[in-house]
Amino acid sequence: MMTTPTPAMSMRGRLKLVSWTFFGTLGCLAVSLTFNWLAFRHQPPDALRLGLLSATVLPIVLAGPLFFYLTMKLRELSIANHRLNDLASSDSLTGCLNRRAFTSLVERQLEAGEGEMPGGALIVVDADRFKAINDRYGHDKGDEALRLIAQAIRSALRKDDAVGRLGGEEFGVYLPHAGRADAAEVAERIRASVADARFAPSGRPHDLSVSVGCVVFDGPKGFRELFTLADERLYAAKRQGRNRVELATVPALAPSISDMLATG
Ligand code: GH3
Ligand code: MG
Ligand code: MG
Repeated sequence: MMTTPTPAMSMRGRLKLVSWTFFGTLGCLAVSLTFNWLAFRHQPPDALRLGLLSATVLPIVLAGPLFFYLTMKLRELSIANHRLNDLASSDSLTGCLNRRAFTSLVERQLEAGEGEMPGGALIVVDADRFKAINDRYGHDKGDEALRLIAQAIRSALRKDDAVGRLGGEEFGVYLPHAGRADAAEVAERIRASVADARFAPSGRPHDLSVSVGCVVFDGPKGFRELFTLADERLYAAKRQGRNRVELATVPALAPSISDMLATG
């Protein structure tokens, strides 16, 4: 049976293991010494000595290994939790975030950004004439093309930018704090990177391309609103011939009359 090897323990994990084992045992030692001293303090010195000796040896022999074992088990549980979380939030075909994980990550970042410097860009990427790839080469080759497209999108981004598969042959990219020039550059890099990808399903190359809709914003915005605007741009790119980028900028809301009166 194949088992996944347990990753080597990090420095932080080792420190936790040592401190739980050491301080846990020390705590048990303190409790048992105090208890035995109170219980045996009026006994003859020999009995008191024996009482204190057993109150020292027993916690070390019992609590030490127990704390060590339990801390190791807790660590395994936390690793399993991380793996489960990764599985639940990633798309199994492309390795990108799935729709739910991408949406909630962007929503969280949008909310977090409201207090400080709100702004950034949401990009929607849709593979062009993808149905024809499936029809011509079969679904498996279509899957291979999707993996290539996801890889090409990732290669056009920084490590920390979020990429999600929104469904079918459509992907989302979120660039926190990106301005118009940065977003336009990244969107074009994504388009070019897919166009350069090598896909040769039957020995001969088949050109891949994507259309890209991008919305740049500089005020507090909700995911739904941004997605609708980016999707509109995507369909404009499709209408204008595909394999191209369309970009829109949403300015911050104009201040309301009551805000202006309040601030004089
Ligand atoms: P357009 O340029 O207008 O976007 O054309 P299109 O053919 O890409 O768009 P359409 O929505 O007509 O077709 C999308 C196709 O993507 C149909 C569907 O079979 C295919 N598809 C969706 N998900 C997957 C998948 O996981 N694997 C494969 N192989 N194909 C998929
Ligand atoms: Mg498509
Ligand atoms: Mg589509």
